[in-house]
Amino acid sequence: MMTDDEPIFVIQKHDARTLHYDFRLEVDGVLKSWAVPKGPSTNPRERRLAVAVEDHPLDYANFEGRIPDGEYGAGAVLVWDRGTYRNLRAEDDEPVSMAEALQDGHVAVWLEGEKLRGGYALIRTGKGDDNRWLLIKMRDDEADADQDVTAAQPESVLTGRTLEEIAHE
Ligand code: MN
Repeated sequence: MMTDDEPIFVIQKHDARTLHYDFRLEVDGVLKSWAVPKGPSTNPRERRLAVAVEDHPLDYANFEGRIPDGEYGAGAVLVWDRGTYRNLRAEDDEPVSMAEALQDGHVAVWLEGEKLRGGYALIRTGKGDDNRWLLIKMRDDEADADQDVTAAQPESVLTGRTLEEIAHE
């Protein structure tokens, strides 16, 4: 169930210069964002590169459509999944804030989306100015090594459209 006091997540499929999935978490009034070239997996053995990119405003979570030619990120965008999340990080039974988790380079969240559910970890692997992280499904009852969720469910959770339909309208 979505309630107003739970932070949101959104994953936007974006056909810019290269196809990728923008994974975004609401933290302290903005959308913390990573570009995931292969998109999320439900298989805990799959480690998906996630490149930290600039924060986006909260209302961008509902954006679906075409970014015009000549603008940054030009190309079609669809809302591939959305929902709420819970922060799973704790140390010595004390909760670790999302801000601290981001600083640590170790984020763990429970997603309640329409396509994705369960625990996901984001682990920073890059050092210094290197923005590389890994997005990894945690081992829980929602893990599923046998499905390819991005291939099986390519369409928008807002409108049911595909990227091709958005690109050509
Ligand atoms: Mn993007």
